[in-house]
Amino acid sequence: MKKLNLVIRDCLILTPEMDILRGSSIGIKENKIVVISKYEDIKKEYEIEQTIDGNNKLAMPGMIDAHMHTCQQFLRGGTADEYPMVWSRILVPFESSLDESDVYASSRLCALEMIKSGTTGFAESGGPLIHAAIEGYLESGLRGKIAYSVMDQDDAIPSSMKSSTNELLKRTQSLYNQYQGVGNGRIGIYFGLRQILTCSTDLIRESGQLARELNTGVHIHLEEHREEVRYCLQKFKMRPVDYLDSLNLLGPNLIAAHSVLMTDSEISRISETQVNVVHCPRSNLSSHGIPRTPTLLEAGATVGLGTDGASGHNMDLFQEMKILRSAIRVSYGLSLFDPVSMTAKSLLKLATKGGAKALMIGSEGGELAEGKLADIILIDLDKPHISPSLNYINTLVDNVSGLDVSDSIVDGKLLMKDREVLVFDEQEILYEAKRHANSVKKRAGI
Ligand SMILES: [Zn+2]
Repeated sequence: MKKLNLVIRDCLILTPEMDILRGSSIGIKENKIVVISKYEDIKKEYEIEQTIDGNNKLAMPGMIDAHMHTCQQFLRGGTADEYPMVWSRILVPFESSLDESDVYASSRLCALEMIKSGTTGFAESGGPLIHAAIEGYLESGLRGKIAYSVMDQDDAIPSSMKSSTNELLKRTQSLYNQYQGVGNGRIGIYFGLRQILTCSTDLIRESGQLARELNTGVHIHLEEHREEVRYCLQKFKMRPVDYLDSLNLLGPNLIAAHSVLMTDSEISRISETQVNVVHCPRSNLSSHGIPRTPTLLEAGATVGLGTDGASGHNMDLFQEMKILRSAIRVSYGLSLFDPVSMTAKSLLKLATKGGAKALMIGSEGGELAEGKLADIILIDLDKPHISPSLNYINTLVDNVSGLDVSDSIVDGKLLMKDREVLVFDEQEILYEAKRHANSVKKRAGI
């Protein structure tokens, strides 16, 4: 008789078409979804090792945070209601004061927060000493694409955070040699480029070239703020997307985080080249505006969602979906009297399938179907703000939060069951986090 390691029994299932399938069960073997069918039929064909009761629960693909900052986890509450420049006054002194043990503790707190809010995969956009974070993420069982913070120019940055172009390229290459594909393929290494202002033309061009040779990705902050656009126009007589295009950087292996300031012609180029646009709605709204998501989607662009880390908000992607829904309704919907300018189905796709493409696992992940990766979360529906509902697709976006996630499975392994995290000692992580956060705060003088 064939074997299954895990079966989620009799749950509601969010299908790849964004419909709700009722009364079915999901059978998992090793790291894949092998069968989705009625429990009675599965039982006839398979020997089952472990069963989770899915009664009153909804199974959906795990959320993917396609732009976050491990090294800003201890900056929570530290960047809101501050005058500019937050980057030079707060972020730079903070990140440059971290040591390896702080980064390790940050990664464990990040992982704990992600597991408890339904995130199963992430793209770390680039922090200092990021090798120390990989150890924490390996323990967590989460799936992630990780980059070093890479900067080789800008006088405002202390020399400890900058290096020569060659040194930076070598550093990511050796990180790649050491960690690419570890944790059963869950961890991958991307080339980080902090932003156009802090990276030389050579660094950008060669990072793109090396990433293509190694068949991996590049993660950059792009068209996030006006200063960056002004810099590109002044220095290169091109807008940021055109500048990266001239350096052969645009492609399906590029994460362009934020992307709120794009012109029509940039949007069509981004779509043609299948760049992964990643909006961080709460972060974008607090500083640089509302992204042009409906225009991007209409042009056929790939769009994912990110939290931009925990410094300004938290790592709950359900909140990002809600804020983007409201922002687009105000900016596009109201002016055109279009009540379906940002549907729940499209938002759920951004947070799952869009994120999977950004992690370069679009063909294997981001949806619940036979043969796909078993990265699954269960939502506890038995709550007064969720059930009953006439339309669980709308309810997932408008009502559910990360706190309603009861179980998390990544790569076929159960990381959280009934909100008990199985891979970490939660109390120890919280204790260590406080200790490290206090110590960095003192050292950074903020
Ligand atoms: Zn960011």
